[in-house]
Amino acid sequence: MAHVVTLIPGDGIGPEVTKSVVEILESTGVAFEWERVEAGAAVFDRTGEALSIEVIEACKKNGVALKGPIGTPIAKGFQSVNVRLRKILDLYSNFRPVRSLPGVETHFGPLDFVIVRENTEGLYAGLEHEIVPGVVTSLKVVSERASLRIARWAFEYARRAGRKRITCVHKANIMKMSDGLFLKCFRDVAVNYPDIVADERIVDALCMNLVMNPGQFDVLLLENLYGDIVSDLGAGLVGGLGMVPGANIGDDYAVFEAVHGSAPDIAGKNVANPIALLRSAILMLEHLGESDAARRVDTALAQTLSWTPIRTRDLGGNSTTTEFTAAVCEAIQKGPSLSA
Ligand code: ATP
Repeated sequence: MAHVVTLIPGDGIGPEVTKSVVEILESTGVAFEWERVEAGAAVFDRTGEALSIEVIEACKKNGVALKGPIGTPIAKGFQSVNVRLRKILDLYSNFRPVRSLPGVETHFGPLDFVIVRENTEGLYAGLEHEIVPGVVTSLKVVSERASLRIARWAFEYARRAGRKRITCVHKANIMKMSDGLFLKCFRDVAVNYPDIVADERIVDALCMNLVMNPGQFDVLLLENLYGDIVSDLGAGLVGGLGMVPGANIGDDYAVFEAVHGSAPDIAGKNVANPIALLRSAILMLEHLGESDAARRVDTALAQTLSWTPIRTRDLGGNSTTTEFTAAVCEAIQKGPSLSA
């Protein structure tokens, strides 16, 4: 039976990278039925609503969505669709594996660590208020419930994946109450997982550590804003924003999307790198129980980068999105033993 998946192409490079990924997924032979719905800036311009009930209902009905990036206007305009969708569907865990790929030049040797970002609160609560003209406050919300469940999620993931160490990232020396609560919850959960080392790092020190010796990290657990910032840093360590996938996971629904945004500067030019969304789709295949197909796509991607010069511009090449897509599909068709 076909997997019914909600497909949200998104804005900017979104339609190009989702088209590429759908083509690659379909070349595996796994049957999909895509329920395509629109969200984002283009829909907002047409209808005045960037995230409609129809999109939310489609995500709820199918349980799984593959989503392209959706741009958010800076300092004005509609609220982030990405953030709203995560909150409405209670996708509390944002899982972002930072793993190097062969054939992609980086400043470091092979890296393989994971970012787990709390996805529903922190400064992303969006509670901003102008107290008097010229003075604005923004509330950082940290609850015990959300902090405990994301810590448990991280430890359960670490145990399942055979990871050995979780580093809780915070600024509890300054934000003693909010980050202090996040850290306390981490410590409370950690005592139930004696097999996993529980480590702590202040966020500014973590950033320095990541650019000097990133190989020391295994799983990073962060509240919402730090998770967002450190994810882009992580992407830079393994080749850029075109490389790092993401999964937004809750108890009932999951939405798979790349870490990067809509990159309007390169939209419509057929030069976007679809790897980040493709790797998000690999996570989706695993989530759907299609582990064999996930492995085949992962291998085909590694082979394309190892054995061919095909690279999009962001990786130093001059291949188009279309050429890259065709190369990965061909590697999938040939299978691992024949591709060399
Ligand atoms: P957001 O605020 O939505 O998170 P951002 O600030 O992270 O967005 P992006 O839109 O992700 O910004 O892109 C930053 C730059 O990185 C883009 O201008 C683009 O040049 C490059 N970039 C991002 N994603 C890709 C991609 N998939 N392929 C090629 N280049 C990309």
